[in-house]
Amino acid sequence: MNTPKQKTETEMAQIIDGKAIAKALREDLKTQVEKIGKSPGLAVILVGDDPASHVYVKNKIKACEQVGIKSFESRLPEKATQAEIAAEIKAFNDNPDVHGILMQLPVPDHLDSDELIHLIDPAKDVDGLTFINIGKLVAGDESGMVPCTPQGSLTLIKSVEKDLSGKHAVVIGRSLLFGKPMAQLLLAENCTVTTAHSRTQNLDEVCRSADILVAAVGRPKMVKGDWIKPGAIVIDVGINRMDDGKLCGDVDFDAAQETAAAITPVPGGVGPMTIACLLKNTVKAAQS
Ligand code: NAP
Repeated sequence: MNTPKQKTETEMAQIIDGKAIAKALREDLKTQVEKIGKSPGLAVILVGDDPASHVYVKNKIKACEQVGIKSFESRLPEKATQAEIAAEIKAFNDNPDVHGILMQLPVPDHLDSDELIHLIDPAKDVDGLTFINIGKLVAGDESGMVPCTPQGSLTLIKSVEKDLSGKHAVVIGRSLLFGKPMAQLLLAENCTVTTAHSRTQNLDEVCRSADILVAAVGRPKMVKGDWIKPGAIVIDVGINRMDDGKLCGDVDFDAAQETAAAITPVPGGVGPMTIACLLKNTVKAAQS
């Protein structure tokens, strides 16, 4: 009986090192900040006691310090009202030392996060979530702010393949935060884009036709190894906490690695790029 041949290391997918690419981007930003001659300022609004949000904010502030961005923090109690947070946003909109404003999501349930986001001056909307910036992305106007995670994901894809023209890209997920802007960015790169979601039929077949597969669902290892087209670039955006405390993505990494040409790990893939692109957007806002 023939035993299946083990793949050699050189036949396995290239692992896209998001940590290293994010580090190089941060170093470049540090040089850019030195040239601006003033400190770009990033204001972070954090409402409530969500421990994960506190960790994210701490990491963002630390990353700001490393590249010379001044951070402004506004921490509000769990019971803060819509009007109180609106007043904080207005104060940051009016502060000339603040170039970027970020409202850490999610906010407590009694608040209307959409309404709050749309109070942010679009020129300072470093998350790219206001209608002006969404519209600019769709219109191909490069003066807008592109949401950080899709922006970082595109950088990772282009670290492997510069010319994406004519490739079939499948994005699983259609959130405003990730899936929709990701699809727009790939369209702007002349990909043929399919957006898949919870109602998509035959998702495995759809994925199998993807030259570029981007998974942003939030379901551990949902994308199986045999859903991957040989030679595909796979970007795993999902962050799922397993029972053993470890993180895993939406893609079955070990199986996908056998077929893909390149794949991002979780952790160490898309995650580090999100913060690096937040810094990039803040520097861009300070430069304009
Ligand atoms: P979301 O708003 O919950 O959107 C999830 C999307 O997945 C929805 O469009 C949903 O479809 C789709 N979906 C759900 N079940 C599905 C299924 N069985 N088959 C196909 N599609 C399905 O989440 P999100 O904010 O976009 O985030 C997605 C994941 O990315 C999460 O794990 C999140 O933690 C992670 N994330 C990571 C970063 C990072 O920095 N690495 C940043 C942002 C998000 P419907 O629209 O039909 O419901």
